This record gives sequence, structure tokens and C-alpha cells, in this order.
Amino acid sequence: MTSVAPKHRRKSVAVHIGSVTVGGDAPVVVQSMTNTDTADALRTAIQVAELARAGSEMVRITVNTEEAAAAVPEIRERVEAMGLDVPLIGDFHFNGHKLLTKHPACAEALAKYRINPGNVGRGKKRDEQFAQMIEFACRYDKPVRIGVNWGSLDQDLLARLLDENAQQSQPKALEEITHDALLESALSSARRAEELGLEHDRIILSCKLSGVQDLIRAYRDLAALCDYPLHLGLTEAGMGTKGIVASTAALSVLLDEGIGDTIRISLTPEPGGQRTQEVLVGQEILQSLGMRSFTPRVIACPGCGRTSSDYFQHLASEIQEFLVAQMPVWRATHPGVEDMSVAVMGCVVNGPGESRNANIGISLPGSGETPVAPVYVDGEKTVTLKGDTIAAEFKALVKQYVQEHYTSPEHNAAPGTISAL
Ligand code: SF4
Repeated sequence: MTSVAPKHRRKSVAVHIGSVTVGGDAPVVVQSMTNTDTADALRTAIQVAELARAGSEMVRITVNTEEAAAAVPEIRERVEAMGLDVPLIGDFHFNGHKLLTKHPACAEALAKYRINPGNVGRGKKRDEQFAQMIEFACRYDKPVRIGVNWGSLDQDLLARLLDENAQQSQPKALEEITHDALLESALSSARRAEELGLEHDRIILSCKLSGVQDLIRAYRDLAALCDYPLHLGLTEAGMGTKGIVASTAALSVLLDEGIGDTIRISLTPEPGGQRTQEVLVGQEILQSLGMRSFTPRVIACPGCGRTSSDYFQHLASEIQEFLVAQMPVWRATHPGVEDMSVAVMGCVVNGPGESRNANIGISLPGSGETPVAPVYVDGEKTVTLKGDTIAAEFKALVKQYVQEHYTSPEHNAAPGTISAL
């Protein structure tokens, strides 16, 4: 899979999570989370597999009950039986120390534990239970994510910082103290984990908020204060366009500054929607920033008054779906194909230009133009399609291009020619 380091990637230590590396020189990793009941091992394994096949490189599952903890080894086995090697991350809150004590097979089957310092207990119990979680990580040789969340901020810590602030001659605003508390919670928990014996390169940090600008500020500051890999995500991003845009706005700024080593897009699925959408959005963000490639890029114009029908919209969508559907196989059989660009354009104004610049492109006829569709391959016009079979013929040409150009690891070999249909 292609990856391009951002211009100024922040230096972080590499943390190994099963077969996946987060931080160091590794490409930014896309991860996701299931929303099934973990106690239902079959349904959870199926969703893990769907997410992994969509491109999620790690999958988090909630481990909230005895039944859920007991199901984790079976989920692991089922996922492996489907031929998938995707690290499973256990999301623990409140009772993680108890569940890991009672379910050693769960502790073993997980590749990483997520610990929320705000949700491991209050007062003295907090320290004891946090220490227990870290002891499990050491015993089973697992990395952890210390995941601080605005909605579950350590209230003892916040109260202490507020008290200290009140003593100052010029007290800071509440938002400032909350910001400080988020960072302090993450960093002091990481320090404590190391004091308890966890290696420095077994820790990932996150500091999630639901406000875009608050999130950017928190991660910029966190990035400057440590070299732990950072897990980025806008928490409670929301549904549909709002969730996608807010996540993209926040993460793009940080990623472009070289901040962030793994991302999760916390979208609320639309009723009946696919959980895999969060994976595709994460991939799109990285691909749009030129950091990684996952699926061939379809360049399609928006259409305008020059398009006499919505045919080209259908074709663009058909080609996009075709490419996405091929990727699970092509990823293995045609390495490098994720870098390919395919243009589907609506008329002669920008059609030939964009099509020439793509690996393969088609320029459909706009209103008043001759009803023919020239196809361009590596900048050269090769064939002109017409009639009712344009879509099928163009798809066949795309397939042929892939077979001729991406059949070996050296996918940048000199372009071949394709025969006209
Ligand atoms: S390429 Fe043609 S149809 Fe597409 S937006 Fe531009 S002018 Fe309109």
C-alpha cells in the first residue's frame, strides 16, 4: 500500500500492535470500532471482518461485561478462521481490571487495551485499578492506549486543577483549565504507566473532544509535549455530512502538520447505514491529503447545464462502485492499483484535459455535442465509444488497463498499450 510521509511528520516512537505498527515511520493507520454486542461473538466477528475487509487495519470492540470478556477469544478465533489478521483492541471502562482478572484468555486474545483514565475509578481506587490494568498489559505484553475523553474527564484531576487555579492572582478561564486537565490526564497517566513498568514504546495517547478547534489545539499541544504516537479522532462527530465534514476538518489540519499516527472516524451510522462508512471516510481523508492510497481515484466533474442527461453521473457512480468492489482482490493481485486515477467527465470543456491527465479517462458528450465518448489512456486518445454499451465497454477497458499495468510489484513500469474494443 502506497504511503507518503507528510512534509513534517512529527517524530514518535513505533508501537507494535499485533502485526500493525503505529508511529515511527509507519503510515498513518486507519482503525474503527464495532457497534455489536461483544457478547454475541458471531455477530461481532462478522462485523470485525466487514470492517477489516473495508480496510480497517485494527478494530476496537467494547469489553464491558463478563459475557463480552468471555466472548473475546471466540471472536478472535472466528476472525482468524476467516483468514483475517486484524488486531483486536479491547475498550475498557470502569471494570476492566475485574474483567481481565477473571478472563485471562480475553487478556491474551486482545492486541491492545484502551484505558480511559477518567473511567477507571475514583479516589484511591482509581490509582489501584489503573495500576492493575497496566500490570495486565505488562504481564501479557500488550500495548495500551491511554484514551482521555472530554466527556469522561478525570473529575478528581479537574477539581484539583480548578482549586489550584482559584488560588492564582489571575485565574484562567474554565475552558483553559479543562484543556490543561485533558493533557495532564493523558500525560500523567502515561508517566504512571511507565513507573509501573510499561515500556515507553507500548503507549499510545489520545485526547478526544467534540469541538473541531478545541481538538486541534489539544493535539497540537500534546504533540509538542511527548513522543508517544497519537490516536486522532473527533469524538461524537455526529451523523452524515456533519460528522464527515467535522472529522475531516479537524483531522486534516492535524495530519497535514504531521500530527497523528492512527485515526478513527466516530460517525453515528444513519439508520440502516453501513458501519464500514467510518473506514472509508478515514481512508478518503488520508488519500485526499496524499498520505496514503487505498482505492483508485475517480475524477468526475460536478456536471452543469452543458450535460444533457444524468448519464455521466450514473457512469461515474458505476465506475466508483466497480473499483471499490474490485479492491479486496486487486489489493493482492494488482499492487499499486490504488494509485490509479480514472476520469469520468461530462463534456468537451474539461473532459479531454482531465481524461488525458488520468491513467484512463472518458469524456462523455455534453448537450449539442456529437454523441460519442473518446477514451484516453496514459494521455493518448485510444478509442471512441458510443451507443448503449459505453459503461460496459469502459469498465472492460479499465479492467484491461489494470491487468496490463499493475500485475507485478513494479507497477510503475512503462505504460503499455491497450487494444481498442
Ligand atoms: S466538464 Fe463540462 S459538464 Fe462537466 S462541469 Fe465542466 S462544463 Fe460542465
